[in-house]
Amino acid sequence: FSAAPLPRSWVEIDGQALRFNIRVARNRIPKKTKIIAVVKSNAYGHGLVPISRELVQSGIEVLGINNVDEVIELRNAGIQNPLLILCPILPPEAPLVIANNAWVVVSSFNEAKWLNKAAEHLGKKAIIHLKIDTGMGRLGFIPSNFVKEMEKIKKLSSVCIGAVCTHFSQADADIEATEKQWLELLKLKEYFKGLPIHVANSAALWRKSVYACDYVRIGLALYGLAPMSFLRRLLKPIMSWKCKVVLIKELPKNHPISYGATYRLKKPSKIAVLSIGYGDGYLRSLSNKAFVLIKGKRCPVRGAVTMNQIMVDISELSSCKIGEEAVLIGTQGKESINADELAKLAGTISYEILTNIHSNIPRQYR
Ligand code: PLP
Repeated sequence: FSAAPLPRSWVEIDGQALRFNIRVARNRIPKKTKIIAVVKSNAYGHGLVPISRELVQSGIEVLGINNVDEVIELRNAGIQNPLLILCPILPPEAPLVIANNAWVVVSSFNEAKWLNKAAEHLGKKAIIHLKIDTGMGRLGFIPSNFVKEMEKIKKLSSVCIGAVCTHFSQADADIEATEKQWLELLKLKEYFKGLPIHVANSAALWRKSVYACDYVRIGLALYGLAPMSFLRRLLKPIMSWKCKVVLIKELPKNHPISYGATYRLKKPSKIAVLSIGYGDGYLRSLSNKAFVLIKGKRCPVRGAVTMNQIMVDISELSSCKIGEEAVLIGTQGKESINADELAKLAGTISYEILTNIHSNIPRQYR
């Protein structure tokens, strides 16, 4: 029991590539603009604490998170930077939020009231960022209610409004709709004059530089991915995801592969079984669609992805051994597979591919 386990699947994170992406983002924003690096959902699957440490060491000013658990994890790890909770808090969470000096994006008077009470009790100030729903239809005050609600909040003695923000729903795809949301925000500008503003996620920041404002809230680009191809070319993906070949077998023509026999071999083939499955976060919707890299070659996934194994055709390889490294995401030789490619094949987005990788798969940082 004493030996360290050798992982059958692991994630490698390239710190140099992360620092490169941070520099690309810095070059895109004015000097006065601060970066809120979004590290929610285990830093998009890359590992909350190590990624946050690297970001902070590289000069990132604020970390954007989802909940109080992340506040506690980051504070316990010794991270002192401002933490902005992007999701509404619940009343019992308010004291922990204030005690740990976290900022909160607020969408209702109630949230401000709970935070005010906790702050009063602790003899502190609650720092809140007021969100306006300019078209996302998720969080934020409806524009027509905003001024009235802000005036009520201003009367709370232990609350300090640190910024005003909004979130774009389709900055990746629809420039006009994004601009419409921006103009919706600007209509209210006279009421929050003097307060810092933040609106831009990764896609928006590279759509229009004016969206940079006082802070940008960016996640995906820092991890080296982007919804727009021109942006993808500027960045370096920081994650590789690997696993091992655990079994190799020769199967005859017509032999079915995996549950449901959704694939039958077109010719006698060499099949490798790999130690990864949907239980580890490799989506079942990649069945019969994705490729993995072995010996620098693209090997097709055959049949259904199972809970803990996938089968790939290695007939084209001149050699392959048990324990051979297989790349699910990353580069091997001249070939690369990125999260965007898997997302397209699975009918989803790269965010889901990344955040789905099970947190118990070891992350190795270089
Ligand atoms: N802001 C908010 C409110 C978000 O929910 C997210 C991500 O989900 C981001 C910013 C970061 O977006 P991106 O990763 O596209 O830069």
